[in-house]
Amino acid sequence: MTRPRIDLHSDTATRPTAAMRQAIADADVGDEQLGEDPTTRALEERVADLVGKQAALFLPSGSMANKVAVGAHTQPGDVIICDNRAHVFRWESGGPTIISGVSFEALATEHGRYSAEELETAYVAGTKYQPRTRLAWIEQTHNAGGGTVWSLADYEAVTGAAASLGLAVHVDGARLPNAVVATEVPFHRWAATVDSVWFDFSKGLGAPMGAVLAGTADFIAEANRFKYVVGGSLRQSGMMAAGCLHALDHHVDRLADDHANAARLAEGLADLGFAITAPVGTNMVYFDPEPAGISREALVDALGRTGIRLTVNPRGGIRAVTHLDVSTADIEDALLETKGAVGP
Ligand SMILES: *Cc1c(COP(=O)(O)O)cnc(C)c1O
Repeated sequence: MTRPRIDLHSDTATRPTAAMRQAIADADVGDEQLGEDPTTRALEERVADLVGKQAALFLPSGSMANKVAVGAHTQPGDVIICDNRAHVFRWESGGPTIISGVSFEALATEHGRYSAEELETAYVAGTKYQPRTRLAWIEQTHNAGGGTVWSLADYEAVTGAAASLGLAVHVDGARLPNAVVATEVPFHRWAATVDSVWFDFSKGLGAPMGAVLAGTADFIAEANRFKYVVGGSLRQSGMMAAGCLHALDHHVDRLADDHANAARLAEGLADLGFAITAPVGTNMVYFDPEPAGISREALVDALGRTGIRLTVNPRGGIRAVTHLDVSTADIEDALLETKGAVGP
């Protein structure tokens, strides 16, 4: 496949910049599995400090961060309350169920956010007959919901209700940096009322791989055991951690550019008569071109021929994602090509 000229399929399309590659090449390294990789440890300390938790753990992927967090929080038979489009529930191949023997109480929501009342209604204390609810799960920003940001008020209503029920709270913060930039609410505030939180470096932050999970020292020790269980313990991971440290220094504030580009894209698509199917709060635009008289498949094919990559969402609509490798000029270009595809 030739590389797309403009890749709006996902923010995972980002490639390391020259400066990031240099930081990777220069990294000081050791054996991570033995706790001896200095750059990985520096990244873990940096993230623990950023989010205000005792400890943090470097992982090769976000999916693994979710898996080891479930492993550390639950016992087989436990129930996790999430929304029914949560990445962990829909997209991780049933991993937590396979590895940890948990099940999900998946709530129907509009854009991935549920309320304190919905959490309270779904909660089950656990009896001889009924499985126990163990964990409340929040995705911030919410991917399938639309790159949706939970407001601090809604978020803290849920974390407060969870605390009253004695539930632990885990945050799938794959794109938490986008929420931080969109709301100007710092990382540590989002982390303050939850037990565990992670974010991804391989999405908008532009690193080739890596996610860091944070929590109490005891929780992270247990997560580290699970990391080994699932084959995630590494050796000279400092090379990848160096890319993540570089991203923290250089690629967080610029997420605002991605958000502005997404807003511009949504505006231009709406002008063409497309339906924008979720509010645009961060770097994602969910839309449907059919009201403008072109099918989703026809549009994706036509744009593909011009070197613009998008994919049809299996559950309806199209998702476009802006990121480090998509410029404002690219957005104007994509809108022009889209206009051409729709025709006069
Ligand atoms: C991408 C994503 C993940 C998984 O992260 P990977 O690093 O791709 O494994 C988990 N949760 C959400 C919300 C995501 O968008």
